[in-house]
Amino acid sequence: MNERIRTRIHVEGIVQGVGFRPFVHALASTYGLAGLVGNDHGGVFIEAEGPPAAVTALVQALRDRPPTLAVIERVSLTPIPPTGARAFTIAPSVTGAPAHALIPPDVATCDACLAELFDPADRRHRYPFVNCTGCGPRFTIILALPYDRDTTTMAGFPLCDRCAREYRDPRDRRFHAQPICCPACGPTLTLRAPDGTALPGDPLTQAATLLATGAIVAVKGLGGYHLAADATDHTAVTTLRTRKRRTGKPFAVMAADLPAVRELCDLDDTSARLLSGRRRPIVLLPRRAAAPVAPSVAPGTRELGVALPYTPLHHLLCRELTHPYVLTSGNSSGEPIAHDDEDARRRLGGIADAFLSHDRPIHAPVDDSVMRVFDGAPLPIRRARGYAPEPLRLPWPFPLPVLACGAQQKSTFCLAQGNRAILSQHLGDLEDYRTLRAYTTELGRLRRLTGIEPALVAHDLHPEYLSTKYALSLDGVDTIGVQHHHAHIVSCLAEHGEPGPVIGVAFDGTGHGGDGTVWGGELLVADLATFDRAGHLEQVPMPGGATAVRQPWRMAAAFLHAAREPAHGLDVLARNPAAWQAVSAVLAAGGPAAPLTSSAGRLFDAVSALAGICDRAGYEGQAAVELEQRADRTVRDGYPVTVTPGPPVVITSTDLIRAVAADLRGGVATGVIAARFHHGLAEAVTAAVRLVADATGLGTVALSGGVFANTLLLGGITERLRRHGFRVLTHHRVPCNDGGLSLGQAVAAAAQTTRT
Ligand SMILES: [Zn+2]
Ligand SMILES: [Zn+2]
Repeated sequence: MNERIRTRIHVEGIVQGVGFRPFVHALASTYGLAGLVGNDHGGVFIEAEGPPAAVTALVQALRDRPPTLAVIERVSLTPIPPTGARAFTIAPSVTGAPAHALIPPDVATCDACLAELFDPADRRHRYPFVNCTGCGPRFTIILALPYDRDTTTMAGFPLCDRCAREYRDPRDRRFHAQPICCPACGPTLTLRAPDGTALPGDPLTQAATLLATGAIVAVKGLGGYHLAADATDHTAVTTLRTRKRRTGKPFAVMAADLPAVRELCDLDDTSARLLSGRRRPIVLLPRRAAAPVAPSVAPGTRELGVALPYTPLHHLLCRELTHPYVLTSGNSSGEPIAHDDEDARRRLGGIADAFLSHDRPIHAPVDDSVMRVFDGAPLPIRRARGYAPEPLRLPWPFPLPVLACGAQQKSTFCLAQGNRAILSQHLGDLEDYRTLRAYTTELGRLRRLTGIEPALVAHDLHPEYLSTKYALSLDGVDTIGVQHHHAHIVSCLAEHGEPGPVIGVAFDGTGHGGDGTVWGGELLVADLATFDRAGHLEQVPMPGGATAVRQPWRMAAAFLHAAREPAHGLDVLARNPAAWQAVSAVLAAGGPAAPLTSSAGRLFDAVSALAGICDRAGYEGQAAVELEQRADRTVRDGYPVTVTPGPPVVITSTDLIRAVAADLRGGVATGVIAARFHHGLAEAVTAAVRLVADATGLGTVALSGGVFANTLLLGGITERLRRHGFRVLTHHRVPCNDGGLSLGQAVAAAAQTTRT
């Protein structure tokens, strides 16, 4: 049996920056094969030469047990003539072809690197940049593909002899690890005053000392700068809030390990896996009553956002500190995260007392991801570090390359081609010009990296969204508007790979309806291309338009007005006596000063203000978030809510608002009112869905829109619908809020193009 064959193997997927070439090299050695392996723009190419059975075994191993971080999408084989080669080598990367390789997300420090980090005998002991083929920075340092050291921000750090040996040794776990480095050749940690002067002493120890004495320290992470403060120090956290101009929005904390998390929160298995996995998002968990964190960390909520260390620097910092520390994005409210050193010094100089930084440049701004857990699975609130730009694979191909421009707030964009949809990292609120700049820069970068040249551009129907304006400014492409709530439902269908039709319940703050009114409490019978508005929440006026979004008490006035329920005797009137008359006059007059809305978010606002929880929102969604958090979990009964069969089915709030007012006048506790509201609304939505199902025969329901980040409502509706035999689709891969909208836009636009 001396037969030898040579096979050219091409592997597509996430195969660069994940240790794939060393893995293939090791396999070749196992099976005694000659040949070569290399990166090209499309992925990894291999030529394997040897006995046919050995070549087959190698191909099987590629498919069956690829490296942990790899995602294999396709393996294609071509027989070629044997060359008689005896060695297996790493070939130089092939450049110049169109780019189709995928960019890996950043990966949290692996156990092997962590062991070295804390091993006094290791040459990388306490070195904050230790990494390997299985972990470390990726997306945030990649300038171009193929992924090689000179196409990353590590290009400026020539390897020392020892690192070079590890890099070249196929048996080493740093074989071709592009960000490889050590204290002799890699980046250096520094601690500086805001004016740039270096502070004396060991940067880590000094930073820890500063934090322990109440200072605020800017820490350069993977995708940008964070601001850190001792989470047990009320004064330090309050100072951070004042300087960052962030009033009520909860901060996340970083804890050293899972036992430290258990001191702060009740920890379930799914959350523990998310926290300690390679993606390491912030996870929102129920806070323990005795949790040792200052009240100013997360006011108005019973939860706490927690993360575990995900870079060696964070691990080292946690070792130096005895408490968990607040770790919040380095920005003022509304701006994108600072990632450029100069920019960070300028923008954070007035907030931080010191900068714990280094000289490895961050190429792309990437915020922390944020997850809740629902139904034993992640419920993404923000999808960024560790997740982006990993593609979502869809069961149907896009007929042409698509760009979807997303929404205005929580903006993301989506580039799609073939069966892949690549959702950008969360970029923030496009009203801030810095965010708009980050948006266009990242879009340009991802277009270059993915090689996707969109022929079709999808956008929201709202003419004033900057993402819409951007879409309409592009030349040489077809543009298509996708209704906001349809896009929400399609994003949910897309992540489940389902074409519909389904009954979609889209509940959010506001979205352009296309009929001149503001939607946000919608029941849509929808498939990927089309929808029919089968039902909605009753329309009420929004006194002062956008002002009503920032001032929930105005919505209390509007819903009382709509229910013909007098305000006298209610605290919300007593708290807002001066403006109440003016708002009542606007409500009575109607017209453009009080545009109509069917928004579920505004209903939450109204009840939150009525219950005395939130009259003025310090951050988007605050009134609704705090209403959920205040709900008494022991209460089971709900308010009556009228559902009229239509069509369209209308959920009317008159009875609900009157019942809230009666409870308030009767001195019923806030927590009971909040709970009864949630249960009543869940019951009403279920009744409305059943009416639509009776008319259509549909048995599957998709729940999407920002309101469904509320797990009390989501759970209440899901449970009731399942009891009635419905299949319920909820979000697990992209956010239900506007952060997931661009995926829905891309899929809906492609479906509409195919249909016509
Ligand atoms: Zn590692
Ligand atoms: Zn080195």
